[in-house]
Amino acid sequence: MSGENQVKHVAVVGGGLVGSLNACFFAKRKYKVDLYEMRDDIRTMEIVKGRSINLALSCRGREALKHVGLEDEVLKTAIPMRARMIHDLDGTCHPIPYGKSDQFINSVDRRLLNEVLLTAAEKNPQVTCHFNHKLLNKEGKEVKNKVDLIVGNDGAFSAIRRQMMKDTLLDYNQEYIPHGYMELTIPATPSNDFAMGVNYLHIWPRNEFMMIALPNLDKSYTLTLFMPFENFNQIKTEDDVMDFFRRMFPDSIPLIGEKFLKEIYQSSKALPMVSIKCSPYHVKDKVVIMGDAAHAMVPFYGQGMNCGFEDCIVLNDMLDKHSDNFELALKAYTEHRNPDAKAIVDLAMYNYVEMRKSVNSKMFLLRKKIDNM
Ligand code: FAD
Repeated sequence: MSGENQVKHVAVVGGGLVGSLNACFFAKRKYKVDLYEMRDDIRTMEIVKGRSINLALSCRGREALKHVGLEDEVLKTAIPMRARMIHDLDGTCHPIPYGKSDQFINSVDRRLLNEVLLTAAEKNPQVTCHFNHKLLNKEGKEVKNKVDLIVGNDGAFSAIRRQMMKDTLLDYNQEYIPHGYMELTIPATPSNDFAMGVNYLHIWPRNEFMMIALPNLDKSYTLTLFMPFENFNQIKTEDDVMDFFRRMFPDSIPLIGEKFLKEIYQSSKALPMVSIKCSPYHVKDKVVIMGDAAHAMVPFYGQGMNCGFEDCIVLNDMLDKHSDNFELALKAYTEHRNPDAKAIVDLAMYNYVEMRKSVNSKMFLLRKKIDNM
């Protein structure tokens, strides 16, 4: 164990969004960092499989990027979304602004963001990234490295968290929701333009179902269909796909294209969504979990990554406050962060109903009010 004045050595497990940002934060503190990522280096891969192609970056996440000097670089490739655009069943659209004109969220490309963060981390000579490495791999070669602190940024199914559960009294709560999500695409128009208004997060709320669309840099939109698995299972043939879209999202068909819709739906798979709460986030001065490993949430509040990014600021503040004493800083981190993260997990679950359902009744009430004026 290094003394308080010696260089601290940290193993970051997971080089996803939060792990790679954390490596930047630790590098700024002059720690020696070994980052272990299970996948290959995404910067060298042709296709990166995984979740959501794009994400909404909010103030919370931007603040964390600013701390490590990356906010401007990331915003250069982000597309501002200033309002929700509600698509009614009859094709009419109504914008609902997020706030004042300077209040907006940003559509960012997950892969690009992860690449920027990995490259920024590696620019620091004291950071080494090890790809194709699982820290806790019992079958294959085990990674043996003596470090001062292990930081679990290994996502919702965290191996670090599993190990913590064996060694400490860790409360754990996991909930799968009955809905799954499937990603589809609205391509750019033949004249290479966006097929819909660009600075919006488009929403097709249909009470039990919902579809959303976020713009991409190549002028396409990533559409995400959220629906109970039992409904996904009922759509089997190309005719079922078309019948469902004609009934539920008719205005989206010409935008996606009938042929492409059939193809992309049939070749895509509905994926599950999980919500996780646990406590504490640390073990003594040895281990801490952050990001989805500590608080995976359903994506309806668009805060999973943003909250994970904010975790990095909070831990950094605690390390400042306790002069890099890991025992005190990790204890303070759990105490401070746990109630806030649990509240965001709950808010995300609440917004699950808000986005697909309540937004409809609010629009109805608003229009009724306008009609009566
Ligand atoms: P992950 O992104 O899961 O990264 C974990 C990393 O650890 C991965 O690279 C993985 O390969 C690696 N790993 C796993 N196990 C090991 C191991 N044993 N050893 C080494 N490496 C390992 N959030 C938002 O803020 N805004 C949004 O708009 C938004 N939209 C979303 C839409 C969908 C459909 C989904 C599913 C999620 C969305 N999220 C959003 C949430 C966001 O994706 C997550 O909160 C975020 O990815 C968490 O980052 P993370 O680094 O903690 O975990």
